[in-house]
Formats: sequence, structure tokens, C-alpha cells
Amino acid sequence: MGLCKYCGQKAGLFRSKHKACEAQKIAGQTSIIQEVEQFILHKEEFENLKSKVQQIASENFIQIEELNALYGKGFDQAVNHILEDGVITEEEESKIGNFKAQFEDFDTRIDTNDSILKVIKSLILRDLLNGNLPKSRINYVGNVPFLIQKGEEFLWVFTNVAYHERVNKTVYVGRSQGVSVRIAKGVYYRTSSFKGNPVVTNELRYISTGILAFTNKHVWFSSDKKSFKTPYTKLVTIEPFDDGCGLLKDGVSAKPQIFSNIDGWFTYNLVSNMVSLV
Ligand SMILES: [Zn+2]
Repeated sequence: MGLCKYCGQKAGLFRSKHKACEAQKIAGQTSIIQEVEQFILHKEEFENLKSKVQQIASENFIQIEELNALYGKGFDQAVNHILEDGVITEEEESKIGNFKAQFEDFDTRIDTNDSILKVIKSLILRDLLNGNLPKSRINYVGNVPFLIQKGEEFLWVFTNVAYHERVNKTVYVGRSQGVSVRIAKGVYYRTSSFKGNPVVTNELRYISTGILAFTNKHVWFSSDKKSFKTPYTKLVTIEPFDDGCGLLKDGVSAKPQIFSNIDGWFTYNLVSNMVSLV
């Protein structure tokens, strides 16, 4: 006779759990995640959340070691919720800061899905939409192959970025995806309304993989085969992709430069607003 791994009672021949016990545990996990999300959105007393979470856990076969992951999922949900209706507000920023401050080693133990990076992206876009040059909010550690100027700061750095060029324009005509958009001021796409398509790489010529950086002055790219920097003022159109973006400089001989394996939503909002600001 097997014993249920949740309640410890007899589960029947060749059985290791009661279905009902498992369902109860899953329901308990869901309710902890929701409690955490609600806590962040409404900024209650952390002690209240903690005792509520512990109570739900003890009543639903949830181990203490499993709680960090559930706090993390609640945080992910709260961040998605906050970013859904636009850029983060100062009040929301302080709620997130309050939650984060409750944990030691928040980044490694709780925020395992890097939701905090979404928050930082939103703060950068908030600066821009308020008409301000964003301050540098990232601490880029690693080898940065760019000789940035005095007063130039990194806003965002993507690594492992594939760079492609569009060689033959006629191949592209009539394709539904990859619409070029003239860069315009004050554009903001919410995460849900931004619907780019993935970069279709077989329509492009792959050049190399490298680092793509956005500073307060330029777009930089560095790889073993090709490196360049482009001032935002030279950019005229941008193609939004789900996982990339296409940039076109002014000038008749300019070819669209397509980057993939990046956050297309953020890049699109960042570049269009930097162009109108600098
Ligand atoms: Zn059981």
C-alpha cells in the first residue's frame, strides 16, 4: 500500500498521492501567488502577507522551501499587471521597491525570471515619455567594446544579438510582416498592443552576432565582422519585430539593419522616443 506524498495517508496500491491532495496543493500555490500580487499592488503590511502565506502553505502541503518561487511568481504577475496599462507610475515604483526591500538577495532568490529588468525598461520609457533623457539605470558589467564619448551613458545593452542586412528589396515586397514605420514623437506601445512578428531570418543575410547598445547618444553595434555606431538623429524609419528591430538611416544608399534576439517592444519604444528627443 502506497502512502500519499502530501497527506501521508494510505493512497492505494501503486499510488503515491491522492488526486484531491495534489489539487489542493496547486490551489494553495495559486492563492499564495495571488496574495503576493495583491500585496504588491496595494502595499499592505508585509508581516500580514507573510503570515497569510505561511498559513496557506501549512494548510495545503506547501513546503517552506517552495515559498521563494511562489513569491517570485507573484512578483512576476504584479509587474505584468503594472506594465499592462502603460509605463510604471512613481507610486507603482515605490510599491515594487517596498516589496523588494523585504528580501535578502532578491535578484537571485526571488526574481528568478528577471522581472525587475522589465521594471527598469519601463522606468527608462517613462523618462522619455516625460520628455527627459533617461538616466543610466544599468550597471553593465562585462567587456563593453565601445569607446563612448564623454557624457555618453549606456541606457541598455543587449548581448548575443544577431545582425542581418536586407540585401534584395524585391524579395521583400508584398510580405505582410515587417512594416517600416516613420519614426514619430511620443509613441508608446503597451506590451499588449505591440504585436510585431518574429524576424524571418531566411529573407535576410545574416552578417554576425555581437553586442547592441543604446546610449543617450547613439546606437552601437559591435561584432567580429561588423561594428558601427549611428546617432539617433540619422535614423528615419524603424521596423518593429517581436524579437528584433530594423533600423534605416537616411541617405539613398542606406540598407536596413536588422537586429534579432532582442526585446522588440522595448527597443521600438526606446528608439522612436530617443529620435524625437535628441
Ligand atoms: Zn493525500
